[in-house]
Amino acid sequence: MNAIKDLITKEPNGLIARAYAFAERAHKGQLRKSGEPYFNHPRATAEILHEWHLDDATIAAGLLHDTVEDTGVPLETVRKEFGDEVAFLVDGVTKLGHIKYRGEQGTAEAAAQSKAENLRKMVLALSEDLRVVFIKLADRLHNMRTLGALPPAKQRRIALETDEIYAPLAYRLGMHNLSGELQDMAFPYLYPQEYRLLLSTSKEHYEERMKYLEEIKPQVEKLLAEHGIKPLDLEIRAKRYSSLYKKLLRRDMDMGRVYDLVAMRVIVDTLPECYAALGVIHEAYPPLPRRIKDYIAMPKPNAYRSLHTTVIGPEGKTIEFQIRTKAMHDENEYGVAAHWLYKQKTDPSGRVKAPSGQKLAAELKWVQQLKNWQEQFSGQSAADPEGFLRSMKIDFFQDRIFAVTPRGDVIDLPFGSTPIDFAYHIHSEVGNSAVGARVNGAVVPLDYLLKSGDVVEVVTQKGKKPSEDWLRFVKTSIARDHIRISLRKKESAIRAAAAGSRSLARTELKLLVEDRVGLIKDISGTIAQSRIGILSFHTEAAKGGKFHMNKVEIQTNDKKKVEKIVARLQTVRGVREVGYKTI
Ligand code: MN
Repeated sequence: MNAIKDLITKEPNGLIARAYAFAERAHKGQLRKSGEPYFNHPRATAEILHEWHLDDATIAAGLLHDTVEDTGVPLETVRKEFGDEVAFLVDGVTKLGHIKYRGEQGTAEAAAQSKAENLRKMVLALSEDLRVVFIKLADRLHNMRTLGALPPAKQRRIALETDEIYAPLAYRLGMHNLSGELQDMAFPYLYPQEYRLLLSTSKEHYEERMKYLEEIKPQVEKLLAEHGIKPLDLEIRAKRYSSLYKKLLRRDMDMGRVYDLVAMRVIVDTLPECYAALGVIHEAYPPLPRRIKDYIAMPKPNAYRSLHTTVIGPEGKTIEFQIRTKAMHDENEYGVAAHWLYKQKTDPSGRVKAPSGQKLAAELKWVQQLKNWQEQFSGQSAADPEGFLRSMKIDFFQDRIFAVTPRGDVIDLPFGSTPIDFAYHIHSEVGNSAVGARVNGAVVPLDYLLKSGDVVEVVTQKGKKPSEDWLRFVKTSIARDHIRISLRKKESAIRAAAAGSRSLARTELKLLVEDRVGLIKDISGTIAQSRIGILSFHTEAAKGGKFHMNKVEIQTNDKKKVEKIVARLQTVRGVREVGYKTI
């Protein structure tokens, strides 16, 4: 925590030393809400930037980031004292801070407008110089760490903004650890009840898992050593509460189905050692099928690289291993910032201005995509903030895709869905009689992987029946169930009817809502609390524009259960009317 002081001792007249003295003087006498000197905040921000291995100009700008905004120092003074580069960064951060995020306060429209404006500014800053965004992220990280001192309403607003803008942004920049930390810190403020529930139900599991991994750690070390692999590090990592909560929602709140509550991370020197370690581990402990993930051969969209596997360890307990090299580990932790680190190592003399190299450019394709959107919407964003926001949101959702009917209805599907899934989500008859599909006007095969924003048109033919082949590639249970039933009908109408009433027990909930940030999350969370699966979730604009109609299909036709859910949903803020029909 005193790395900045060390830098100053080394270079008492350097850029960082001068910025430190300047900012300390400028903030003199100012206090934070907690009562501590204000300067503690820019100093901590600079410490974080140093931890991320950023360059001197960025650290200096981190020290100075609030001087123009909060102490009235003219930007020109900063420029004269510290040069164009630092002044440019400070100015960028100041501009980003100007728009106040309104989040859930005010009308839904105002919230969408302020959020859209924020994202737009962020994207602009990104495309000009990523370092501005790094400073903003470090600033936010420290503000989140000290959020406890603020009044509750402000805590909630800042937590919401962090969860909806900064954490996804960090994720997209490949700063996995930061993204998780931001979400984890926002979680108790946004979902206090869920947080308390999670603490009480998972504490024992966590402790038991930690203890188990600590016990087998020497065994793993020995095992690897026997095969000539000496890990640089073998660490035990607990899953974050926020991501545990998300996973539990997908696993019907069943803690027993979360295998990676605590994972063992194996950090090795070279790429071949990653695969060698995986082999050694699999030889000693049987792997669980379908739980081996090679994110080295196929990195995640945010460039995350690692091998993951879940195995059955001693006493028949599951263990998740994450295996990676040190370089991959740094990239996973620091994301794009890691590229400055490596660049600086090879180029100690020159000033590091912006990332370059084809690799980085390829990894940052989405930045270009954001920029294109930004250009496309820059004329419209003032007139249509919600449209801009919608298009941004689409890409910020990670596991869902949003495909569109030719009439403009949005169909929400899991990642990996095909036109057949899409068809069954419109109506079972559309699915059953599908013979072809067009995506964005072009004919595609029925197992085509849909992307967000695809306009999908299903071609149907009366009297057609589904093909057994479809079962190989459909993604959603709703499509699979319908196909099976239709196939069985061919064989035995009676058997199909009996099976159908069981597997397709479902109810459609209709919710008239006044949209707000976080509403969908709250609705699905409320349903998940009752441990009932959600089969589909559609949103359409209702007449008048202000309201939306949400149609949610849930996996039960038990009237008592349904009525309980309806009663709970009526208490969710923003929900105006709830109706249902069993299908
Ligand atoms: Mn600040």
